Amino acid sequence: MNPAIVLVAPEHADGLTDEFGRYARDYDVLTTTSVEEAEEVARGVVAEGGQVVMFVSESQLPGYHVLEAFARWRTVVPTARRLVAAHWSHFLADAPALRGGLAKGKYDAFLLMPRGVRDEEFHTAVCEMLSDWGSTVATPEVDTVRIVSSGPDALAQGIRDFLDRMGMPNRTYSPDSEQGRDVLARAGAGATLPVVEAVDREIFSPTSVREVAIRAFGTPTDIDLDAVVDVAVVGAGPAGLAAAVYASSEGLSTVVLEAEAVGGQAGTSSMIRNYLGFPRGISGMRLAQRARNQAIRFGTRFFTGWSVKGLVVGEGGEPHLLDTDGGQVRARAVVVSTGVTYRKLGVPGIEALVGVGVFYGSAMSAARETEGYDVFVVGGGNSAGQAAIHLSRFARSVTIVVRREGLEPTMSSYLIGEISYNPRISVLPCSEVVDGGGNGRLEWIRVRDTSTTEESTHECRGLFLLLGAEPHCDWLPASVARDERGFVLTGRDIPTRFWADGLPPANLETTVPGVFAAGDIRAGSMKRVAAASGEGASVVPLVHTWLDPTS
Ligand SMILES: Cc1cc2nc3c(=O)[nH]c(=O)nc-3n(C[C@H](O)[C@H](O)[C@H](O)COP(=O)(O)OP(=O)(O)OC[C@H]3O[C@@H](n4cnc5c(N)ncnc54)[C@H](O)[C@@H]3O)c2cc1C
Repeated sequence: MNPAIVLVAPEHADGLTDEFGRYARDYDVLTTTSVEEAEEVARGVVAEGGQVVMFVSESQLPGYHVLEAFARWRTVVPTARRLVAAHWSHFLADAPALRGGLAKGKYDAFLLMPRGVRDEEFHTAVCEMLSDWGSTVATPEVDTVRIVSSGPDALAQGIRDFLDRMGMPNRTYSPDSEQGRDVLARAGAGATLPVVEAVDREIFSPTSVREVAIRAFGTPTDIDLDAVVDVAVVGAGPAGLAAAVYASSEGLSTVVLEAEAVGGQAGTSSMIRNYLGFPRGISGMRLAQRARNQAIRFGTRFFTGWSVKGLVVGEGGEPHLLDTDGGQVRARAVVVSTGVTYRKLGVPGIEALVGVGVFYGSAMSAARETEGYDVFVVGGGNSAGQAAIHLSRFARSVTIVVRREGLEPTMSSYLIGEISYNPRISVLPCSEVVDGGGNGRLEWIRVRDTSTTEESTHECRGLFLLLGAEPHCDWLPASVARDERGFVLTGRDIPTRFWADGLPPANLETTVPGVFAAGDIRAGSMKRVAAASGEGASVVPLVHTWLDPTS
């Protein structure tokens, strides 16, 4: 059975059915003419074990406001995308009235029904939504990488998360499934779970996520050690990716060293809605992989799974030296774009279950497994809000735990609006998680009300920790000056004793000549994707000037 697209077209059923004919090979396109019929059809699909990808509705429905209809269908299939295809005769009347609902996430897109053949703008929007559903909800049909594991397994979960963030289709099989038995038979005796069949079809038992990354993406020793690159970018979040695209497109030899998955924090976001040029939003993974491919097209070399352990500053015109476990990289200029990471909760019972029910960050791949369960998100920032919205598509309930009295001081209003409308999400203010445990995986947590000190125990199959940020800078030498929290100082923020001839260093320059900083790692940065990528781009002219002061 193919996944279903449910069309709800009381007035223009023929036109809309015809328009969606091009999807009929891969999806069951089911045309209905009323809210009730659409609901019944969707229930039927679910009852037979099928999936509804999308509801496409006309803007006017007899007996219902279209937003009310979407809310009804959402209770049947919370993961389905929701699209209004307005007939042009209703467009002027309906568009302004429905705009508010779009901003609050009550549906995903408002499009004008095509007026002729080959309306590719319309179909690009539809395909984007199908693709987003495919990468966040559906079990991948293609498995470039196969993982064999049994029961809750933090390593297998970490590998899956890494592959998802790198945009590599993967599937996990139990050892007694047909595919699992096949992989294990070829792995030979003595293979320990999890077993991974990699892109090159080699089978191995990794002991860390990094081993999988190295297998897929190579080591820095692949670079001729005698070669000195123009610029080495440390960290492939939005700042590092932008620096790589601009540096390599302008002819600089560029290497990017990334400790985990390309995309950084942004790569863990289910949907970035406020990045310029993506009116329907874009998943962080997709944005990151597009940027990576763009940089590769211009000649950037990426090394993924390699943490930079140290920087030896080059003196007297010598290149800087970056140390990794897989070799050294010599570079005339270094861009530090190592971003931030989440603060640890520091509760031993919970830390022991990281990867088996407890996750730092939004852990996109773990979201699918929360279906039907109660989960908790800790944190009051935008990342916590996005994670809660994404999780609510799967989990029975999502509770956001915050220390403050509410979300207003720390979260953007568009997310607060979306959360208040979502019946599956609730907020627990003035609260903190103080304990948790379970048999081999997280099963319960204890929450303290900070105003009364009363404690309560809750069943919990998923705890997503999105606490405040800490900079990734322990690998930098002391000569790269930082503020009291560890963020790298640049430009005018650098203490005057480091200034030359009474002038501050350039905007993104650190206290070490030829070492620049961009994005969240920089003291005073805005902590947004657009700001980080803007800084990554802006750093490149400074690198040019450093490499050739006469330029
Ligand atoms: C879940 C979530 C949702 C978000 N949603 C939005 C949003 O909707 N809109 C928005 O504008 N912003 C959003 N943000 C914030 C945004 O993602 C960040 O501001 C942005 O990613 C910062 O980019 P960066 O490149 O500076 O650093 P990061 O994204 O933090 O990337 C740094 C990279 O450096 C790597 N690294 C660290 N140390 C080393 C080392 N020693 N060696 C090699 N590599 C290293 C890390 O693994 C990481 O990949 C969100 C953040 C999160 C976590």
